[in-house]
Amino acid sequence: MPELIDPFQRRITYLRVSVTDRCDFRCVYCMAEHMTFLPKAELLTLEELDRLCVAFIAQGVRKLRLTGGEPLVRRNIMWLIESLGRHVADGSLDELTLTTNGSQLARYAPQLVGAGVRRINVSVDTLDPDRFRAITRWGDLDKVKAGIAAAKSAGLRIKINAVALKGVNEDEFDRMISWCGDEGMDLTLIETMPMGDIDGDRTDQYLPLSVVRARLRERWTLDDIDYQTGGPARYVRIKETGGRLGFITPLTHNFCESCNRVRLTCTGTLYMCLGQDDAADLRTPLRASESDDILIDAIHEAIGRKPKGHDFVIDRRHNRPAVTRHMSVTGG
Ligand code: SAM
Ligand code: SF4
Repeated sequence: MPELIDPFQRRITYLRVSVTDRCDFRCVYCMAEHMTFLPKAELLTLEELDRLCVAFIAQGVRKLRLTGGEPLVRRNIMWLIESLGRHVADGSLDELTLTTNGSQLARYAPQLVGAGVRRINVSVDTLDPDRFRAITRWGDLDKVKAGIAAAKSAGLRIKINAVALKGVNEDEFDRMISWCGDEGMDLTLIETMPMGDIDGDRTDQYLPLSVVRARLRERWTLDDIDYQTGGPARYVRIKETGGRLGFITPLTHNFCESCNRVRLTCTGTLYMCLGQDDAADLRTPLRASESDDILIDAIHEAIGRKPKGHDFVIDRRHNRPAVTRHMSVTGG
C-alpha cells in the first residue's frame, strides 16, 4: 500500500480540503467585512476535487475533512460528499467529516448521515445572540442552534469549536461547558491565529489558553486524558459534566512533531503546513493528463517538502499577520 511519508518520518494520513473560500458569515477574526473572493473560473470543479481526494486516498490518506469558507454553501456540495462517502463504505477511508458554521445544517443533516458522515465540528463562539451577530457579522444563532438540533436528531456526533477571544467571549466558557455537557457534545477552545488581514487588531483579541485553563480549574475538575482525534487538540475530561474539553494552542504549544496532515485549497493548491507559505500547485498536474501518474508524483514531491513546523507569532510591533492568506483559504 503506498504511503505518504515526509522528511521527518511523519505519515500523512489526514487531508483537509477547503471546498470554497466563500462564506455566509464574516467572522471578525477570520475575514474582513468586504472580502474579494476567487473568481469562479479559478475553482476546481467538484469532479476535480473528487479526483484529487481519491488520489490522496490511494496514497494512504485515511481521514478527510471538508472545510472552507463554509463548505455547505458550495453549490451541489452533497454530490462531492456522497461520492467521497463511498470510500468510507468500502473501507478505504476511516472517516469523512466536516467543519461548518452550522447555518445550513438543518437542511443537510440527514443527507450527511446518509453519505457516511458520522461526526462534525460546528463553530460556535458564543451563546449570546447579540454577541453571535457581532462576532459573525452576518450570522443568526437561532438558525445555527436549529441546525445543531437537526444534526443531533439525525444521529451526528458534534464537537463545538470556539475561538477564545479576549474581552469578547472569555466570560462565557463556563456556560458553554455546561451547554455542551447537557447536549452531549465535546467542546474545543482555539487560540486565535495570525492569519490574513482582518479589519481589527489581533493583539487585542489574543487570549492564551493557559490563562483560560487556569481559570476553568477554579470551577471544574479537569482530568488529563489520552483521547486523540488525529488533530492537534489536547483533551481533558470534565468530571462534573462527563464531557471532553480540548485545547488547540498553536501559539503557546508546539503541536508540530506529530503533524499528520496537509491542506488542499479549492484551487488545487496544497499547503504542507498551516503556518508556512510554501505550497504546491496540484491543479496543473491534475489537468495535464487523464491518468493520475503525474498528479501522484506531484503529491509525493510536495510531501517531500513538508516543513518541520510553523513559526506563528502574533507580532506586536508590526501587527502583521504571520501568514498572509486567510484561514478561509485553507480552512483551519
Ligand atoms: N466556516 C466553517 C466554520 O466556521 O467552522 C469552516 C471554516 S473556518 C475557517 C474553520 C475554523 O477556523 C473555525 O472554527 C473558525 O472559528 C476558525 N478560525 C478562523 N479564523 C481563525 C483564526 N484567525 N484563528 C483561529 N481560528 C480561526
Ligand atoms: Fe466563515 Fe468559518 Fe470564517 Fe466564520 S470562521 S467567516 S464561518 S469561514
